[in-house]
Amino acid sequence: MNIVLVIIDALRVRNVSSYGYALPTTPYLDRLAANGVLFENAFACANATIPSLTTILSGLYPLSHGIARHRPLAREEAERGKRLTLLAEVLSSAGYQTAGVDILGLWLSKGYDHYLTPKPYDARTVSSAARDLINNVLRPPFFLMTHFWDTHMGYNPGPGGGPFAGRAAEYPGSGISTQVILDTAKNPWYKAFLTIALYGTRTFGEVMARYDGAISAADTAVGEILACLENNGYGSDTLILVTGDHGESLLEHGIYFDHHGLYDVSIHVPLIALFPGLGARGIRKKALVQHTDIVPTVMEMIGLPWPGAKPDGKSLLPLIHGRLDAIRSAAYSVEATYEDRHSIRTLTHHYIVTPQNSRATCQLCEVVHGSEQELFDLAQDPVEVKNLAGLRPQLAGALAKALAAWSRHTGGRYAAIQLLGNRAGVLRKKSGRVIPWRRADAE
Ligand SMILES: [Zn+2]
Ligand SMILES: [Zn+2]
Repeated sequence: MNIVLVIIDALRVRNVSSYGYALPTTPYLDRLAANGVLFENAFACANATIPSLTTILSGLYPLSHGIARHRPLAREEAERGKRLTLLAEVLSSAGYQTAGVDILGLWLSKGYDHYLTPKPYDARTVSSAARDLINNVLRPPFFLMTHFWDTHMGYNPGPGGGPFAGRAAEYPGSGISTQVILDTAKNPWYKAFLTIALYGTRTFGEVMARYDGAISAADTAVGEILACLENNGYGSDTLILVTGDHGESLLEHGIYFDHHGLYDVSIHVPLIALFPGLGARGIRKKALVQHTDIVPTVMEMIGLPWPGAKPDGKSLLPLIHGRLDAIRSAAYSVEATYEDRHSIRTLTHHYIVTPQNSRATCQLCEVVHGSEQELFDLAQDPVEVKNLAGLRPQLAGALAKALAAWSRHTGGRYAAIQLLGNRAGVLRKKSGRVIPWRRADAE
């Protein structure tokens, strides 16, 4: 059995049509869901790329693998990464040909026979590289991982601005000026980064159209890869998993075009899978699942033990077979890039807290988003704006206790991961970064 893992960066469920979005952003993912299984309640374990990919590929929570923040990485974090057992390494040792198309490198490139970073790095070149691997390089059994970046800030819808460019005025809040948003950014480095990334947009609607267009570009590329698998005769013997590494906050909670915060917009991600041989078609599962479940699921599908540290997640197969209705009572996530936060998410409530001895102030925006302790009733308040922590102290206390128990259980020596302090250097670097397609627009 071949394994294809597709990660679409910063993809929140709110903008995915098979999760109920009104615009047709994802016809190919929708078709995949119609042929396979869609998990309605999948949650990232971290809100940033590097910790989240490390979790996806190790089956461990960030507090277990010890990498809870995106850059800058401390030397000990890089050392921890190198020591981790990751999916490509395990499959390679089991005789799989392994290939990754990704932009990150680091320890995340371990275990691949072929690791490609095409330039420019966009949906078209990633799709082309993946299809070339399938057509000409990989022979069964193989593992292919692709990481799409178009949906990350700087949203790249491709030529012509993508299919939603002409509908910018239809988005709620479409008329909000991007300059007004930029004027609220206090941190000069963040402001400079946003200015570059939002180049050429005048309104929030135009930014939304770009984000949706970028989703559409990634979706089209996924469709091309799936068709290529079919054309090579691999369709009936390939496990396909598609997810987002985290979500994205577009304006929500005062978090502009980034994924910090542990609100649902930043951690509720799509997870759509095709399980060969299981006959599961068009199934939608409500059970809480997390990225930690991907490694155990793959290993159970191919019938091999996992040789690394015991994954924190659980196989999804008992859910698919209908043997279990749930594999966990709560999903857990951490943040340690611009803020320190921990969160526990049940099907009905979401509790987010700043860990002890840490400051709640966001180092990017220089404000406190929400407050140090937040509780949301998701049935009454799905957009998470009414903090009930003060009104329902018993429930908040019970969730805090469960969160602390999880932190102790998974954290071990890494439980105290916190912000590194001054992030100005990183932000300075970000602000100077050239976003290739913006430069092309400018010329
Ligand atoms: Zn990411
Ligand atoms: Zn912020």
